[in-house]
Amino acid sequence: MDLRGDFVIIGSGIAGLRAAIALAAAGDVVILTKAGPAESNTGYAQGGIAAAVGPDDSPELHADDTMKAGDGLCDPDAVRLLVTDGPRYVRELLEWGAAFDRDAAGQSALGREGAHSVRRVLHAHDATGREIARVLWQRVAPSPRIRVLGDALATNVLMRDGACVGAAFVDAAGVAGRVEARATLLATGGAGQVFRETTNPAIATGDGLAIAFRAGARVSDLEFVQFHPTVMQVAAAPRFLLSEALRGEGARLVNEAGEPFMQRYEPAGDLASRDLVSRAMVREAERTGAPVYLSLAHLDPAFVGDRFPTIADACRQAGVDLARDRIPVSPAAHYVMGGVETDADGRTSLPGLFAAGEVACTGVHGANRLASNSLLEGLVFGARAAAAMIGPPVSPTLRASRVEDVPAPNAGASLPDADSVRDLMWRRVGLVRSREGLHDAVRSLTSWWGAVHAAAPDASADRGFHRVSSIVTAGLLIARAALRREESRGGHFRADFPGRDDLHWKLHVADRL
Ligand SMILES: Cc1cc2nc3c(=O)[nH]c(=O)nc-3n(C[C@H](O)[C@H](O)[C@H](O)COP(=O)(O)OP(=O)(O)OC[C@H]3O[C@@H](n4cnc5c(N)ncnc54)[C@H](O)[C@@H]3O)c2cc1C
Repeated sequence: MDLRGDFVIIGSGIAGLRAAIALAAAGDVVILTKAGPAESNTGYAQGGIAAAVGPDDSPELHADDTMKAGDGLCDPDAVRLLVTDGPRYVRELLEWGAAFDRDAAGQSALGREGAHSVRRVLHAHDATGREIARVLWQRVAPSPRIRVLGDALATNVLMRDGACVGAAFVDAAGVAGRVEARATLLATGGAGQVFRETTNPAIATGDGLAIAFRAGARVSDLEFVQFHPTVMQVAAAPRFLLSEALRGEGARLVNEAGEPFMQRYEPAGDLASRDLVSRAMVREAERTGAPVYLSLAHLDPAFVGDRFPTIADACRQAGVDLARDRIPVSPAAHYVMGGVETDADGRTSLPGLFAAGEVACTGVHGANRLASNSLLEGLVFGARAAAAMIGPPVSPTLRASRVEDVPAPNAGASLPDADSVRDLMWRRVGLVRSREGLHDAVRSLTSWWGAVHAAAPDASADRGFHRVSSIVTAGLLIARAALRREESRGGHFRADFPGRDDLHWKLHVADRL
């Protein structure tokens, strides 16, 4: 199937949908989305969306918290755009009918999450992403200018004379198609599936990252992966995220003896940033030789059930009671801070190719993302990318201080199965990293990348192959970056370089094929 549009968007999460709404005012839009149209990380987001709308809050305070979480690597201009434009876009969602929770006075009820200095998180109980997606779809679905192709897996972007002119895809029946357009937006979301343990759904395999890198775009800051501390670990039950909003409302991490332990490791206790909480949990589990738990038993059960109905239901299905039982938890890969490098308007290093949402590296998160800033980023930068796609071509000003050229691989070992790669990434490139483990990972991943490269991803219609291809490519880029950065900062922790080293490492590094 060959199609033409003015704009093509790959992905139907918050970034892709918000961009589509803006682009439809200027031309015909085609959205390619690889699963059912509603399937995205966005749909699973629980805690909420951060915006400085409270009486005790301000964009400056939100910027301050965002920069502190980012551990010295946020781009201050990008952060300023996020926090000053954020409230406007969130109010727009409310005008479009988003049913966020309200307090007794009828104002938006604001939740608290780790590393936020005030209550700032708008939420729809504990299923905020689903509510935001509902509101966006209500505007996308009836638009005569937006065509949505579900089960359309984008495999590569089309390049002509060094510029991106659209995307190629494979449909549900395995038939190849192309969409030509004057501007292409990658809104493919995250890459949590690159790791064995993750909060992300099956779609999050880093496809956009792999596609952009293969086309020659710059990707940066990929060593920075956020590991969420509290994923439910009940035998035989699916892994399920227990939102940070639970700790925001008073839930505590406890050890086998039932003692709260976070204060012993971090002054901010249970609401320290996610990387600090995750590592403290690992240390406490090592110290006691037993699992750690999340406990809400000291809170009012009626409040717990009312505020967190979706999480309570998932716990019930796993045979535990959220309000009364202590629930075994451990960390899992949650969010990739790095991505396809963009300027403040979503422009990548390739003319005609834009990126927004989790796949992009706008610089707002630096080395670690402040909780609930990612839905906001998708909204604000999805809209900004759309405006730039409509406007005349402009050369981007990109941020990386250093760009490394990655040599094309030699044909390597035979193709791996995805689970071996995910297991290696979890063991060697996970929460605690070291030179030896990272060397080992990069060696294996480079060899697998050779096999993937030799099998020519652009030409294949096999979805299983594309899953492995993306996981290997994204995994290699993350592992290479983690091996290179010989310090610890934000989500990146090196046991052999446990301190932050501003003298050598207060910089961004990009990779390019
Ligand atoms: C369990 C969970 C809870 C979270 N809670 C919060 C929260 O409370 N607050 C917050 O701010 N953030 C939260 N996050 C993070 C946040 O949900 C994501 O960062 C954000 O939704 C990403 O939006 P996006 O539009 O960039 O991508 P996504 O919403 O992931 O959408 C990506 C889209 O691209 C499609 N796609 C991918 N590859 C291809 C391809 N090759 N071809 C075609 N289509 C493709 C996917 O099918 C999907 O439609 C949470 C994440 C998870 C997993």
